[in-house]
Amino acid sequence: MSYIGRFAPSPTGPLHAGSLVAALASWLDARAHGGQWLVRMEDVDTPRITAGADAHILNQLRTLGMRPDADGPVQWQSTRTALYQDALTHLAHSGLLYACDCSRQTIASALARAGTLPSRHAAAVYPGTCRHRLPARPINTSACAVRINTQASATICWQDRGLGAQQQALANEVGDFVLRRADGVWAYQLAVVVDDADQGVTHVVRGADLIDNTARQQFLQANLGLKPLIYLHTPLVFADDGQKLSKQNGAAALDLSDPLTCLCTAATALGLPAPSDDRRQHLSDPYALLQTWIPAWSAKWMCH
Ligand code: GLU
Repeated sequence: MSYIGRFAPSPTGPLHAGSLVAALASWLDARAHGGQWLVRMEDVDTPRITAGADAHILNQLRTLGMRPDADGPVQWQSTRTALYQDALTHLAHSGLLYACDCSRQTIASALARAGTLPSRHAAAVYPGTCRHRLPARPINTSACAVRINTQASATICWQDRGLGAQQQALANEVGDFVLRRADGVWAYQLAVVVDDADQGVTHVVRGADLIDNTARQQFLQANLGLKPLIYLHTPLVFADDGQKLSKQNGAAALDLSDPLTCLCTAATALGLPAPSDDRRQHLSDPYALLQTWIPAWSAKWMCH
């Protein structure tokens, strides 16, 4: 089987303990399959990007012994807008897209009127206010978001290698979602699907916090005529206070003065054995340490 996997960080800051777990899992899965490992900088959401974070992340990965494969150079999403536009045009020709000028407030009011306002932490399901504009072609209305109609979609079901059988009914649980925001920023859902296909990615390995996006991505793959991917969502890493480790929660940058310890902490989060102190002393560098986990990774995940 030819395997292409990827690590796709958003350069909003340096890697932290949580994102290192995702990087390590995707690296190990690619190596265990004898496949390729690509790195893609997901920098479409320009207001959230931190200058220099991309170079910082690549440097951190190098220090940790994880180098992207030479025949898959690092890609930056910000250079790939023509591909996203092509995909949008394709979907517009299928009559699935419409322009939406609802503000957050309009959406909240419509949901309140319908009695379907979500609880504080749940995501709002778009009430379909602008769907009457279907099919709108061409979609080039500035100052409008572009949404995709999910109303006719069947429940999306898939087998996750990590979390088992999954399903999501997009129409009821997510609603018509945005592919391009009113400020012109491409949505993660569209960019990730287009890039995975363009780069020939076969397997996605990422943190379980992203699993809620998978059905939307599979819906887009199907409507763009792209091959389905194989997914593995790995357990999240929590800080001592029980909060998910993320940049938003102030997770500290990795202390790369001791790369072996950073890698051991990430490996432990993935249920991999830490090398004995004796063995560790004989490991010359991070790459040598990484190699030691490939058999344990294979034994744990390759049958899935
Ligand atoms: N860029 C996303 C993030 O950093 C990950 C996307 C993905 O792996 O599909 O959370």
